[in-house]
Amino acid sequence: MAEMTVPLLDLKPQYQALRAELDEALLKVAAAQMFILGPAVRELEEQVAAYCGARYGIGMSSGTDALLAALMALDIGRGDEVITTTYTFFATGGTIARLGARPVFLDIEPDTFNLSVERVEEFLDRCVWDGDALRNPATGGRVRALMPVHLYGQSADLEPLLALARAHGLAVIEDAAQAIGAEYAPARRVGALGDIGCLSFFPTKNLGAFGDAGLCVTNDEALAGRLRQTRVHGMEPRYYHAFIGGNFRLDEIQAAVLLVKLRHLENWHAARQRNAVFYDRALAAAGLSGCVRTPVARPGRRHVYNQYVIRVPRRDELRQYLAGRGVGTEVYYPLPLHLQQCFADLGGRPGDCPEAERAARETLALPIWPELSEAQLRHVVTSISDFLARG
Ligand SMILES: *Cc1c(COP(=O)(O)O)cnc(C)c1O
Repeated sequence: MAEMTVPLLDLKPQYQALRAELDEALLKVAAAQMFILGPAVRELEEQVAAYCGARYGIGMSSGTDALLAALMALDIGRGDEVITTTYTFFATGGTIARLGARPVFLDIEPDTFNLSVERVEEFLDRCVWDGDALRNPATGGRVRALMPVHLYGQSADLEPLLALARAHGLAVIEDAAQAIGAEYAPARRVGALGDIGCLSFFPTKNLGAFGDAGLCVTNDEALAGRLRQTRVHGMEPRYYHAFIGGNFRLDEIQAAVLLVKLRHLENWHAARQRNAVFYDRALAAAGLSGCVRTPVARPGRRHVYNQYVIRVPRRDELRQYLAGRGVGTEVYYPLPLHLQQCFADLGGRPGDCPEAERAARETLALPIWPELSEAQLRHVVTSISDFLARG
């Protein structure tokens, strides 16, 4: 018998299950021939904002563009600094730098992989107020905003981060690209807790489009207006531009797909959570707790498991072994942002963020998608167990 395969992600079962609804929604857009910022986009904006517990939703062309638009709407640019985590997908730091601002990459908490409140506090303690601005004395830059990331689907430690931001006059942009529906505390969903929350509907996220798509949520009416204007080159009224924006528009086809899928999102979160519990228990039952560290979900926080990330010794060997057993895995992320070549001019050095650097050597994401069968989950655990038993 051919051994089972467990891809890191397989989107086909989801499409098969919703095929009739999705095909109908796609054909409706084809019939209407209205492709950009149409009724489906407006409906999606309302529904996603309500889902997140925010007042306004502004559809964007991707999660990256949602971050870029958020920074632009807050007028962040040259001479400004934005505090964020070094352990994240590139877009978090890349958008800050593209606007000429300086990303301040700080280390993470080792158990949740999210931005460390202590490191943020330490950094802010070194900053000084000079009249109108909070300055980083090392660079002279104005510290303007804080951009926590809810990595892998778990909320960052938002309450203390929001308090620090408030005390220092910083805007808070939540990078919730991996975490739609995650909660910091019961009924307090990420994205709606800072000034602007940025979502991604890249196909691998818990709510995935048929291509690139994203969205900003906010409770601030003025910021919502500014984001809408930023999305269309800063234009208002037509062909008049008081500031520069971009083309960050969301396609009607993507919105139509997302409206169908949004109705199933809670079920998919629940299935991911069930899979996580299965792994937690099965890895412990196999006696692997000593060498495999399973994800830590903080009490009260709703983790939506966009990724199920373990820490293991000999990570790269295990990854190769699992590939041989038909199990797909991925390393999110092998190099923290402060060590990326493109950010060398910021002066980051090995040792600056030891926890992130250690995580980059030890983490491995296992398949966690909702439609995985129990046999597939079991095969992943058995394969890990076999690898470790070989010594
Ligand atoms: C996916 C992701 C983004 C970017 O979203 P895209 O839709 O791919 O542009 C930004 N930040 C994080 C943490 C992500 O995981």
